[in-house]
Amino acid sequence: MYFPFLAEAPEYQRGVLEALREPLESGELILHRSAGTASYPARFQLVMALNPCPCGLASGKGIDCVCTAEQRRRYFNRLSQPLLDRVDLQLAVSRVSLADYADASTAESSKTVAARVAAARAAQRERLAKWGASTNAGMSSAVLNDGLKLARAVTAPVDRAMQHETLTMRGHDRVLRVAWTLADLGGRTSPSSDDVEVALTLRLQESSP
Ligand SMILES: [Zn+2]
Repeated sequence: MYFPFLAEAPEYQRGVLEALREPLESGELILHRSAGTASYPARFQLVMALNPCPCGLASGKGIDCVCTAEQRRRYFNRLSQPLLDRVDLQLAVSRVSLADYADASTAESSKTVAARVAAARAAQRERLAKWGASTNAGMSSAVLNDGLKLARAVTAPVDRAMQHETLTMRGHDRVLRVAWTLADLGGRTSPSSDDVEVALTLRLQESSP
């Protein structure tokens, strides 16, 4: 598995960013040329970062930012909605204060987090083995919506978001996959409606800057 990291993602050409959509979905890169068609494996986990505005100074009080509203709009519009629809976790990262920087004692160690991730991965492998998958991201929609179908009361938050058209069908399935991962990380056998709610929040909070 590769983890490409696009720093300053809006600075990439739109065509380059849009070309990521298909492999993000299918895990394959298909090239069509006059001589024929070739398919290459392209399973990766994409990480993108962007500044709060083109000049990069709009975080916090943002008093030094020199960008116009139009410049900001154009900057964020370079990441299309169909591309963002494939980004499951969208987080605003605020500036680190000097106090936080000086006091790293409250942070969990990487070792503790790694153990929790390994346990979550093992739970996924065990649950999904009979369907030939090993991760929540890799399970098919049929498994998600049939084999592992959750009670209506659990999926209510995500069903509502789809009804109100704040979420696409693809987004609906992606939120449920994240909810399964939250349950695995928390040592629960299946997601609660809280897990679904949190998965939804992780996806939507920064989608319309
Ligand atoms: Zn700015």
